[in-house]
Amino acid sequence: MRTDSLTSQMSQDELYALSLEVMPGGAGVGAYAMPDDARFIINRGEGSKLLSTEGKWYIDYVGGAGALIIGHAFPSVVEAAQAQVAKGLHLYGTLNEPAIQYARVLVDAIPCADQVVYATTGSEATFYAMRIARAYTGRSKVVKCEGAYHGNHDYSSFSVSPKTLSEYPVGQPDTGGIPTGIREQILIAPYNDLDTVARIFKEHQDDIAALIVEPVQRNIPPQPGFLEGLRELCTEHGIVLIFDEVVTGFRLAYGGAQEFFGVTPDLATYGKIVGGGGPGSCVAGRREIMGQSDPVIRGQDNYAYVNGTLHGNPIGCVAGMATLQELRTPGFYDRLHARTETFKGQVQAILDNHGLEARVWGTGSLWQTVFMDRIPTRHADMMNADMALTKELDRQLLLRGIYVLPGVRRFVSSVHTDEDFATTYAALDDACTTVKANL
Ligand code: PMP
Repeated sequence: MRTDSLTSQMSQDELYALSLEVMPGGAGVGAYAMPDDARFIINRGEGSKLLSTEGKWYIDYVGGAGALIIGHAFPSVVEAAQAQVAKGLHLYGTLNEPAIQYARVLVDAIPCADQVVYATTGSEATFYAMRIARAYTGRSKVVKCEGAYHGNHDYSSFSVSPKTLSEYPVGQPDTGGIPTGIREQILIAPYNDLDTVARIFKEHQDDIAALIVEPVQRNIPPQPGFLEGLRELCTEHGIVLIFDEVVTGFRLAYGGAQEFFGVTPDLATYGKIVGGGGPGSCVAGRREIMGQSDPVIRGQDNYAYVNGTLHGNPIGCVAGMATLQELRTPGFYDRLHARTETFKGQVQAILDNHGLEARVWGTGSLWQTVFMDRIPTRHADMMNADMALTKELDRQLLLRGIYVLPGVRRFVSSVHTDEDFATTYAALDDACTTVKANL
């Protein structure tokens, strides 16, 4: 048993044994099964790093699944959250002051937003955006792209990780437990393929309420004209265009993907950075559409019910507001993106030096290394990648104190230091040697 105050009273093995007993597969906080020899339990986060219960520091590129663009425990975020804790962790029922103040900040920041409505998680935000779009159009179906992730609910759990390419627009469920009737409600289109989207719109146009898209799908960038084309097609067919900005919002630019790519959707969903690491997400959009969730019309067929115990939670609101204030620092995104470019260049050079056929790429501060021969434009390209080798390299990084989720795209934060990068390069170099030796 460790007694060091920085670490847990229980050993890592004891904690794992406990987790297996009280949570299915010991996975109560996520669906990632970490490699047995590289897993660790987090004790706390500090800046760009995580401390394990065994007292080992990791350089963190997972960043709270992308929520922590300014790292862990950023001083002004901690201060704002602590002050709010003393005034109430949780306030529900009538409006609270931070929620109103934050709504002003969000509406000012988000190009498509006349109004916002709060939820707690990104999944809830996409669920509500789809519901609002259905209530607004009186139609039922939603188009989503193959390979896109919009959260954990039934409507988003189709063709996220399909085993084979879809017979568009028929999707493949990603999980058991989805009611059979939902399958026909979700139509699948390939990302970056406007012709197929146009065909699906034409064939089902009277039934389609919305198209939801990750502007950067996982880590696949939109081809020039794709988002613009979706905008035109949705306008033409009276279909609500939803940008899922849960990752890209406040990540690619202060105005998110909408600002970065210059395309404005009808609705957008936000989570992660919006909660500043605390509970908080929202749907943002045009007044006319957002009005479907106005409780004044409750009871009408076109009313979209949005309500949750933690909606507008003041901790998430103040943590989010403090985070966004930091993001408004002049040059914040230019610096972050330039540093990530340099980082990616070095990572690619190391992969190349070892003669490994792997690519590193990403928009803004996103990055990912995958064993493949070109930067992907479609989900099909991701399916052709050597993910087993990709995950093996990531496992080797984990063993060397670099926190990445095997095979998953990752983030540079504004608090990663040059020293962190140098440590990462050395770890990668060594990891590549091991991977190559085992080929
Ligand atoms: N949409 C996107 C694009 C996401 O990346 C995620 C989370 N990774 C979600 C929705 C769901 O957000 P949450 O995990 O907060 O429910």
